[in-house]
Amino acid sequence: MLKSLMEGSFTPTYPLAELHTHLGAAIHPGIYWKIAHDQGFKLPQKDYHEFRDFIRLSLEHTVPMEKYFKDIYHPLLDRLSSGTHAVEEATYEIMSGAYRSNNITLIELRNNPMKHNHNGTIDLDHVIMAMIRGMERALLEYPRLSAGIIFCLAREFSFEQNEIIVEKAIKYRRRGVVGLDFAGPATKSFHFETYKKLIAKAKKHGLKITAHTGEVKNANDVWEALETISPQRIGHGIMAAYDRKLLKEIVKREVVLEICPLSNLVTQAVENIEELTFIIRTLIEHNVLFTINTDWPEMIERAHLKRQFSFLLKHKIMTEAELKRSNKIAFESAFAPQKGLSSYL
Ligand SMILES: [Zn+2]
Repeated sequence: MLKSLMEGSFTPTYPLAELHTHLGAAIHPGIYWKIAHDQGFKLPQKDYHEFRDFIRLSLEHTVPMEKYFKDIYHPLLDRLSSGTHAVEEATYEIMSGAYRSNNITLIELRNNPMKHNHNGTIDLDHVIMAMIRGMERALLEYPRLSAGIIFCLAREFSFEQNEIIVEKAIKYRRRGVVGLDFAGPATKSFHFETYKKLIAKAKKHGLKITAHTGEVKNANDVWEALETISPQRIGHGIMAAYDRKLLKEIVKREVVLEICPLSNLVTQAVENIEELTFIIRTLIEHNVLFTINTDWPEMIERAHLKRQFSFLLKHKIMTEAELKRSNKIAFESAFAPQKGLSSYL
């Protein structure tokens, strides 16, 4: 059930599940500000509000994804969210904050540990353990919360670098690393085929697989992902709405799409609300399983999970019943065990 809190705003009264959110884009600007000052980082702005407006996108301030990655995400956010102090604090704040502010009782947080180790100057295991400590603290303090960590491989990394991340995920699978993701912009040298064996090995060790694909028009390798690494879920996958054969295949394989509505709008992956509506309605008409997620809950204004629900309702993109169903699908397709801290003890 969804109830109206104020004009134009609705909030679900049931617990939510968040399956697709990135560490670097889920840190509140105030936490970034604190982490930066704790460690003496020089920031491009001296005033907090100027800093917040610089790193945050909104429906009124959209930036093409590649440009945001190049100008802000990689040079600034990745750097600020690096190191054991930042990673532990960020993980703890994101997971506990998700429960407090949005009644999220299941959160899967993803990151690429190799992008948070200051270019190899910090030992990778220390970065990973910092993330696990942050998660354990949140789970201890909020017993109704369940969580898991997904490691992102990077398309722009070498196979050898990504292989190290997969080995680390296998090593820490009993401590809360529940899955692997492929992220990053399309590159000429990247092919899912190259990872077929490695991913099969990860699956054998109990890891689940998702992959960013079909997010933007010029980088649609959903078919290749399905036929090689066969992921249980797909990050975005929205371009499938333009390929009927692909929609059928996704349904046949029961692959779940992790839809991130506001992210697609602010990064200009979709042109406008009309295109977003077309895509989501097409997925519903074809019985595609999908969940609603934030992707970048703090780097987009008003983008917390409840706000995403509210936005979809307000613009008549989804009904209350459809939102409730997508949330149920999220709990059912989660990679993380749902027994709180005891999942990993
Ligand atoms: Zn993402």
